[in-house]
Amino acid sequence: MKMRTFKHGIHPNDGKALTADAAIQPFFPKGEAVYPLSQHIGAPSKPVVAVGDTVTVGQMLAQPDGFISAAVCSAVSGKVKAIERRRTVNGKEVKSIVVDNDGLFTPCEGYDTPRDYTTLSPGEILDIVRDAGIVGQGGAGFPTHVKLTMKEGVQPEYILVNAAECEPYLTSDYRLMLERPEQVLEGLQVLLHMFPAARAVIGIEANKPRAISLLTEKTADTPRISVQALDTKYPQGGERMLIRAITGREIHATKLPISAGCVVLNLSTVVSIGQAVCHRIPQISTVVSITGDAVANPCNLEVPVGSSQREVLDFAGGLKAEAEKIISGGPLMGISMISLDVPILKTSGAILAMQRDEVAMWEPTACIRCGRCVRACPEFLLPPMLSQAADSGDWESFEKLYGIECMECGSCTFVCPAKRRLTQSFRTAKATLNDKRRAALNKG
Ligand code: SF4
Ligand code: SF4
Repeated sequence: MKMRTFKHGIHPNDGKALTADAAIQPFFPKGEAVYPLSQHIGAPSKPVVAVGDTVTVGQMLAQPDGFISAAVCSAVSGKVKAIERRRTVNGKEVKSIVVDNDGLFTPCEGYDTPRDYTTLSPGEILDIVRDAGIVGQGGAGFPTHVKLTMKEGVQPEYILVNAAECEPYLTSDYRLMLERPEQVLEGLQVLLHMFPAARAVIGIEANKPRAISLLTEKTADTPRISVQALDTKYPQGGERMLIRAITGREIHATKLPISAGCVVLNLSTVVSIGQAVCHRIPQISTVVSITGDAVANPCNLEVPVGSSQREVLDFAGGLKAEAEKIISGGPLMGISMISLDVPILKTSGAILAMQRDEVAMWEPTACIRCGRCVRACPEFLLPPMLSQAADSGDWESFEKLYGIECMECGSCTFVCPAKRRLTQSFRTAKATLNDKRRAALNKG
């Protein structure tokens, strides 16, 4: 099969051998479950339960508050003990529903019962996806029902499945492909039923040959679904990189994938769609790789959303050595955690505990104009100039240099010999600019 890819990018050590052969094991939390009402892009969800209510597995706890918002459903049974602000992975305190887990995991009515998707209209499927609280699991948690809502007369040509899993160390999508290929195909059949003019392409990096051959074999008799092998290169799974690699189409960062005729979904999001539509199981769990050289027993666990990250890490045997850094997610785009007493979110894909952090070990020095970051940037940006603008608070220049297009992939920071914390400064600059824009809109 001919490989495809995008221009630029990097080749970090993938670290996947630690968990690539670890089959997904179930994990049942013993402690309380905490559900932040903002674990997606958009407006926080609105509670539909009150303190003292009894809840069951799969029951909706909070509904979307507006179009760009997402529902939150319970992954445990028990009693709602508080609705209060709790700390989440990024260190911020967020209004959350706290459930006293009774350890029984009593399901709600209808949970895990079959439903024939072919009898459903696209609008009915959208409602199911919305009420199941499905958000993109490969990134910042964009509500999936919003992504699947098309303007009048617009239909996608491609459903692109991001199965690249290009972040080092993560193997949860890889294990899903090997262990639950039928669930991937079921989710895709639902999407192809919704969009009759589309075809689906599953993009998998070449470092996962078993997944490529298994899914190629499973899709041999489904002409509307195919597998595309991709070069092993970071950030191959970025939305625009995947579109470029598979379709050859280019889109501007300010445009949506549908402008290139594409809907891009992460592999685990596709699985969640199939589970919600065909089995009435909302998005209440996520497969998490517990990995890194500081973890006693690296593994892949299916973790109920809301579980404590500390409890999950303890289940994997805890730390065997002092960890210099513990990250929620991968080393390049993940979030460094200051405490493990925070919940697993719908978007959690890994707990990565590392004994050494190469970037943090060195003090940044002056830029030596080597140009490595420019050659690495998949968005063709100029990181040294962006960094100058961001560090001096020159927002106008930052915008003129298209800083807002930075996807915060971390490639520039990774290759920089001066160990400059480029991505961190771009993240802060973008957040500041977005705050300014919101403030201006509110004023107007
Ligand atoms: S973090 Fe931004 S500037 Fe740096 S390589 Fe990625 S897209 Fe380019
Ligand atoms: S890689 Fe680092 S040192 Fe080289 S040009 Fe970019 S910022 Fe400067």
